Amino acid sequence: MTKSDCIFCKIGAKEIPSSIIYEDEQVMAFKDINPSAPVHILIIPKKHIASFNDVTEDDEKLLGHIQFIASRLAADMGVAEQGYRLVSNCGKWGGQDVLHLHYHLLGGRELNWPPG
Ligand code: AMP
Ligand code: ZN
Repeated sequence: MTKSDCIFCKIGAKEIPSSIIYEDEQVMAFKDINPSAPVHILIIPKKHIASFNDVTEDDEKLLGHIQFIASRLAADMGVAEQGYRLVSNCGKWGGQDVLHLHYHLLGGRELNWPPG
């Protein structure tokens, strides 16, 4: 299920290029085009879900799978030991620009908290 005008659906379908880090049937992980940290990966479901406001019970397993993959990627990218952040922005006040649910995996430097 993809949405024709959605940039992350197009990345998931490889209709537009990205620096792919990981892929399986349900999920794709690729480098953020405008990185905020030495490691900045986006992890998306291939299925179009606009945001966390749009998840349903059917998505429970998929969301768990994405987080499991995130933990593996953090180890693979060498940031697990020092620590990293896995975050998903939701809606306007949450700072979400791309309306296809995604997690940011950020690491490789010390991150500030709380965010701005
Ligand atoms: P958000 O503000 O949470 O919606 O994050 C969207 C992220 O997508 C930003 O960090 C952008 O730099 C990133 N982004 C937008 N277009 C692309 C693209 N074509 N390839 C990789 N990352 C992108
Ligand atoms: Zn989409």
